[in-house]
Amino acid sequence: MQEIRVDARAKINLGLDVVRRREDGYHEVKMIMQTVALYDTLTMTRLPESEIQITSNAGDIPLDEHNLIYKTARLMMEQYRIREGIKVHLEKRIPVAAGMAGGSTDAAATFKGMNELFQLGATEEELRTLAVKIGADVPYCIMGGTALSEGIGEILTPLPAPPQCYLLIAKPDLYVSTKYVYENLHANELVHHPDIDGMITCIREQDLWKMTALMENVLENVTVRKYPIIEEIKNIMKEQGAWNALMSGSGPTVFGIFTSEEEAEKAKAKIKEQEMAKQIFVSAFSNNG
Ligand code: ATP
Repeated sequence: MQEIRVDARAKINLGLDVVRRREDGYHEVKMIMQTVALYDTLTMTRLPESEIQITSNAGDIPLDEHNLIYKTARLMMEQYRIREGIKVHLEKRIPVAAGMAGGSTDAAATFKGMNELFQLGATEEELRTLAVKIGADVPYCIMGGTALSEGIGEILTPLPAPPQCYLLIAKPDLYVSTKYVYENLHANELVHHPDIDGMITCIREQDLWKMTALMENVLENVTVRKYPIIEEIKNIMKEQGAWNALMSGSGPTVFGIFTSEEEAEKAKAKIKEQEMAKQIFVSAFSNNG
């Protein structure tokens, strides 16, 4: 095999809690992860010499050793003693620095793609164990689907897919630093925590209405205060018929859950008209690999 194409799906957090800040500075989380039908495509080609080349349609990400694809390729080459090289073309569609795990999912696709391309025979579990070295969300991105993520993100429990719906995803044109958000959260002083266990019950019972009512993200406490536009986008979505709307990850992306495509499209038009977000998509949950 000389070339392989791998799709790398984005994720949203249907619920996000930070349980505590550990003494080593890491935050313990409890999150419900969900892959969505928005994806980057990686085309990976073997090269005869030991080198890593990355090209992309995206102008706003590093293509050198700072790219998570590069870091993953280097790790795989070392771990499996690969003597050849690899060229990766990244077709980027997932908004960058958005709270949708764009870099992590590209890394996950690199793990899976290189495993196939070089016929390494690694199991998914082996890849997930290695993936923690690249980032806390990468093991989940390898697994995909719906999952409870605990610890610093590496303890994963698969969950059934929630009922299908229309998802409106809007990324306001601003940059949110994940580091800033966690530093300003003061996790050990939080008095209110989202009901993640309740959400899991609703997902198991396939009750979308109750599930959406429990959607919460503790990081909104920090991000919405600094960027009120996030709340404004959520409000437009809800006014237009979303059962609920939430910020994903550390933001600034907002998603709304709709049961009517027409309402999702109307909300999209309204948000565009008010120039609140340039990157805006009607999408869906994606649970099939
Ligand atoms: P998360 O939800 O995991 O916090 P994110 O969606 O907020 O991630 P990314 O899209 O992963 O953020 O981008 C964060 C930064 O990572 C970017 O500003 C970019 O410099 C860097 N980066 C490295 N590799 C990639 C990649 N393959 N795709 C996008 N960004 C990358």
